[in-house]
Amino acid sequence: MTEHAGADPQGRDIFDITIIGAGPTGLFAAFYAGLRGARTQVIDALEETGGALTAIYPEKYIYDVIGFPRVLAKDFVANCDQQARRNEPAIRLKEQVLELEKGDDGILRLGTSNGDRWSKSVIICAGVGAFEPKRVDAPGIAELEGKGIHYFAKRVEDFRGRRVVIVGGGDSAVDWAVTLEPVAESVTLIHRSKFRAHEATVEELHRSSVDLRYPGYETTAVHAGDDGRLAGVSFKNADGDVTTIPADEMIVAIGFVADLGPLKTWGFELQRNQIVVDKVTMATEIAGVFAAGDVAAYPAKFKLIATGAAEAVTAVYHAVIHYDPKARLDAGHSTTIMEKKEKAGAAAE
Ligand SMILES: Cc1cc2nc3c(=O)[nH]c(=O)nc-3n(C[C@H](O)[C@H](O)[C@H](O)COP(=O)(O)OP(=O)(O)OC[C@H]3O[C@@H](n4cnc5c(N)ncnc54)[C@H](O)[C@@H]3O)c2cc1C
Repeated sequence: MTEHAGADPQGRDIFDITIIGAGPTGLFAAFYAGLRGARTQVIDALEETGGALTAIYPEKYIYDVIGFPRVLAKDFVANCDQQARRNEPAIRLKEQVLELEKGDDGILRLGTSNGDRWSKSVIICAGVGAFEPKRVDAPGIAELEGKGIHYFAKRVEDFRGRRVVIVGGGDSAVDWAVTLEPVAESVTLIHRSKFRAHEATVEELHRSSVDLRYPGYETTAVHAGDDGRLAGVSFKNADGDVTTIPADEMIVAIGFVADLGPLKTWGFELQRNQIVVDKVTMATEIAGVFAAGDVAAYPAKFKLIATGAAEAVTAVYHAVIHYDPKARLDAGHSTTIMEKKEKAGAAAE
């Protein structure tokens, strides 16, 4: 496990490669960094890996990634995640990188929402910036986050026998409503306007027993019970009449916002919210810092998953050369590298 290699005399736990962003580019970079034997950490502001695919279009089909004639974005992310974890990088989710600076000894300090991280090289795979779920502006919500209020629903079983309120009208909200209806005690869906989800799922929703409160409905407050968890939700209709219902769980699925924010202040040359890189090496203006994927700018750039993957490989190879100038730039094929690793592992057992 790369997480516990110990700290240097100054108390810094220094990784070889730190990847900012766990979208498809960052995940592939993490896999390749592991393949090259780099001690790697990946940091993402989101609670889940997958970047734009998770935040914006988990239910859409992708047709142009190598090896998949057609694949749901969320299924593709699950595969990318599994591949990325193969060499056990440290994956730090719900952590935003706010600062990047280089010390006199060339080690990079990343100031994050959870404290400082240290690295010999950094690959920025930040897409359009750090994704954050959009929050409902209603009294009580912030206090009950993690105590019944969810921005990512993960396991259906967590909702079995529970009274569930879902807020939103896109794919994610409607999918969760129809998925949870057979297992939850009750499901209420609150939405301001028309549903924007797949037609077939919306039809399924209308056939289900989900209590639909739309259009014109908005959450006005959430209430805690004696145990400090969510106990009730109040909402109003278009006429302003307020109803309060008991609820154990509330899933807020009203989308995400992205913020490139802090990255703009790190001293890179920017071109329309992208970091200008050298196309041959993916190097930025700061030595040891590379960028790949949607965030990287060079002439005739295509913002695609496939191009991000190729850029990730280039960035990893040059990051390795940065912290280990004696290493070979091209270490060969994964078939050979993995064969060698597996043989070495078997010999050690
Ligand atoms: C609706 C839609 C459909 C698409 N369909 C296709 C398609 O069919 N085929 C295709 O090839 N491409 C498609 N794309 C484009 C594709 O999604 C992007 O090219 C891809 O997501 C880029 O991946 P990435 O990893 O570079 O960035 P992202 O997926 O944007 O991931 C960046 C990650 O970095 C994190 N991050 C950013 N800043 C920070 C920070 N400071 N600290 C911590 N974390 C940070 C973010 O939270 C995010 O998770 C589509 C895009 C959209 C919006």
